[in-house]
Amino acid sequence: MNSTLLKSPSGLLAKVAHCLLVALLPVAACAADKGADNTAATAVLPASGYRTSLVLLGTAAGRTSYNGTSLAGISSALVVDGDVYLVDFGAGWLRRYFQAGLGKMPGKPGLSSLRAAFITHLHADHVVDYPSLFLFGTTDGLAARKNPVRVFGPGPRGSLVPVVGANRTNVPVIHPENPTPGTVAMTESIYAAFANDINDNIRDSQKPDPHTLVAVEDIKVPDGVVVNADRDPAPDMQPFPVYQDERVKVTAILVSHAPVYPSFAFRFDTADGSVVFSGDTSPSPNLIRLAKGADILVHEVIDTKWIDEFLPKPRNAAQEAKARHLLEAHTAVEAVGAVAQASGVKTLVLSHLAPADSTDSRWRRAQEGYSGRVVVGTELTWLSVGQPVFAGMAP
Ligand SMILES: [Zn+2]
Ligand SMILES: [Zn+2]
Repeated sequence: MNSTLLKSPSGLLAKVAHCLLVALLPVAACAADKGADNTAATAVLPASGYRTSLVLLGTAAGRTSYNGTSLAGISSALVVDGDVYLVDFGAGWLRRYFQAGLGKMPGKPGLSSLRAAFITHLHADHVVDYPSLFLFGTTDGLAARKNPVRVFGPGPRGSLVPVVGANRTNVPVIHPENPTPGTVAMTESIYAAFANDINDNIRDSQKPDPHTLVAVEDIKVPDGVVVNADRDPAPDMQPFPVYQDERVKVTAILVSHAPVYPSFAFRFDTADGSVVFSGDTSPSPNLIRLAKGADILVHEVIDTKWIDEFLPKPRNAAQEAKARHLLEAHTAVEAVGAVAQASGVKTLVLSHLAPADSTDSRWRRAQEGYSGRVVVGTELTWLSVGQPVFAGMAP
């Protein structure tokens, strides 16, 4: 299926028909061929009006520059009745936000449709384009919102990650006065780094102070859950509330992405159904608990064969450490089906694909041990949640 631009209603209908067709198959990839440079600005929309939809803005794990692709980094959106809830700010999320049509919600132009955002963890591939939110947001519609966009992200780690590797002394520490900042401190540091531009815009172009556009909060892990983040950053726990409004209730849980702490998965409960985002994690009992009975589980995945290809044996110490992190902190494609089965979710959407330009045939192994539907996540894909509630096309 090639991914040509949908310039006419007939083209759109053809694409939708394709999506509805593949939705009936065990493995569905609705937007574009995998393994290709998926740069066509083509949103794949649901066939009729759904109040709630999952929109994949970027599904690439890690850096997005490999092999010359133009794939976007990890970022997803849940659209509920015209309001957008974002999960992660990977490379290119803002461009994809508009390409997906999220800037054309009725009565909510541009980023004025963005109501809240949630950051799973502070690895760069999840936040590299976070500054775009407030550096370009004023121009792109944020200032039209009545209330600031709410941003929820991890708090400070609290202590530096232990040094790995024999005989490594005098390991440099970046920003020693605060080497493990959380989301609030990171945001203030970004404002400081871009003060020249921001002050220019406030004074000369009469743009608002970004503090008035974006309300940032560190997510507080319930007291007593984590004893030692180095030994166990994701102990068994119950989901806890992060955010609620009249459209969604968002709960979080810690997931296993050592040595990262905190690393969150999020669950969104709506009147139309539930969608869970795993964040980065190895197979996690907490994630399974959070995702119980959800309609859609968006789960990260890594191609284990790829690790052997780009880090062939024998490996030096640094290569070995990298390979170990990839295997122990992520979920192999052969293992993710069992996670979805244990969760009892209806649809498993593979995202945070490592590598994002791998082939469909490799990702199809996610079906192992899972009786539900597998969707190989492709950027700019819309997936409806629940039943259609009004006639006509989505925006
Ligand atoms: Zn990641
Ligand atoms: Zn990560």
